[in-house]
Amino acid sequence: MSENYQVVIVGGGTAGITVAARLRELENPPRIALIEPSEKHYYQPIWTLVGAGVFPKEISVRNEADYIPDGVDWIKDKVTSFDPEKNLVVTSDGKTIGYDALVVCPGIQLNWSAIPGLAETIGSNGVCSNYGFERSEYTWEVLRNLKGGRAIFTQPNTPVKCGGAPQKIMYLAADYLRLHGHLDDTDIQFMSPGTVVFGVPEFERTLKKVIARYGITFNTRHELVEVRGEQKKAIIRVRNEQDEIIDDKEYPFDMMHVVPPQSAPEFIKESPLANAEGWVDVNQETLQHNRFPNVFSLGDASSTPNAKTGAAVRKQAPVVVDHLMQVLQQGEIKDRQVYKGYSSCPLVTGFGRLILAEFDYDNRPMPSFPFDTTRERYSMYALKLYVLPQLYWNGMLRGRA
Ligand SMILES: Cc1cc2nc3c(=O)[nH]c(=O)nc-3n(C[C@H](O)[C@H](O)[C@H](O)COP(=O)(O)OP(=O)(O)OC[C@H]3O[C@@H](n4cnc5c(N)ncnc54)[C@H](O)[C@@H]3O)c2cc1C
Repeated sequence: MSENYQVVIVGGGTAGITVAARLRELENPPRIALIEPSEKHYYQPIWTLVGAGVFPKEISVRNEADYIPDGVDWIKDKVTSFDPEKNLVVTSDGKTIGYDALVVCPGIQLNWSAIPGLAETIGSNGVCSNYGFERSEYTWEVLRNLKGGRAIFTQPNTPVKCGGAPQKIMYLAADYLRLHGHLDDTDIQFMSPGTVVFGVPEFERTLKKVIARYGITFNTRHELVEVRGEQKKAIIRVRNEQDEIIDDKEYPFDMMHVVPPQSAPEFIKESPLANAEGWVDVNQETLQHNRFPNVFSLGDASSTPNAKTGAAVRKQAPVVVDHLMQVLQQGEIKDRQVYKGYSSCPLVTGFGRLILAEFDYDNRPMPSFPFDTTRERYSMYALKLYVLPQLYWNGMLRGRA
């Protein structure tokens, strides 16, 4: 064995850095290794605004090194497998690292190849996506060149990170077209395999008004199943209420924003830590693994059925840190904290308008502000543009928010 740590963290994205920083803030911090292959750290929520031309993509990226907390050993490598019976992880260069407690947070996997034709054409032929640092700029290029025709926005039939992101860019695009006099000439279509606009009725009511205001056609039980990039055609599978396929319809488009199908990362799916769907199998309240008590998971890779967001990580991280320290110090969780499934989705509905949707596992609203957040507000738009990024870089990632 090459090395042993009290705590090993797999993944240095939103969740990994937040947990590492919180652990280092403790009076007697444990000895920590963080395994993360990327030199760069991304604030992904801003990609929605990059796609709408509000910010350049560079605003979303910083050096990972600047956010690894002092005292934490950064192992710049990928984890390839786990041996939780022996408390070991193995990295791609063959290193074996031992732990007393493990935190697993490598994020979600984007499956571009799951839709025939998508991987070949994404980034060209008007097919764009905000799901990626390099990709989001092309969304803006396509949007600013759109002078009418058809714009399609898709949502896949899988869990996604930020369930609102497939819609947010559509509302921004519609508002951009309105401001430039092209809205009436553009047929905007949303393709959702689901049955509702948004899972929380209080926010869905407002979103339905927004959809009507922009003249958007919101198609439910409609799923993108193929892209013919050079012909600029999308094949959309339509199902009935019994979930039977009733048609594969061809839609020509001028712009198509695609959110790719997503899943747990392959190395998690294949590991003893996974549940039947491939996610890290944890208790949804304690975030402790259901079979290995010294293993915890949070963020997009965990099995908790909340909306996968950075906002959720913010509420999960203190629970993980508290329980992990109890397991290290007392061998078990004696004082139980509960993560209630809090997530937040800042639904941008236009330039200068936003609905801040905050809710729990049962889709009950959990507002942080003492006013009606189901209304579109400029103040919440300003929060997303100017306050939340500061809170992220200077608060959350420093273990302070
Ligand atoms: C377009 C878009 C808009 C969004 N909007 C919002 C929003 O408005 N509000 C909000 O709260 N959230 C939003 N999100 C979601 C948010 O960014 C994620 O939910 C959050 O980053 C999840 O944190 P994480 O640590 O689980 O994953 P990530 O932050 O993705 O980090 C995972 C890390 O694990 C590393 N990793 C991967 N494989 C391995 C491996 N084998 N070994 C070691 N490390 C590995 C990766 O390099 C990465 O650094 C948005 C996301 C997108 C794409």
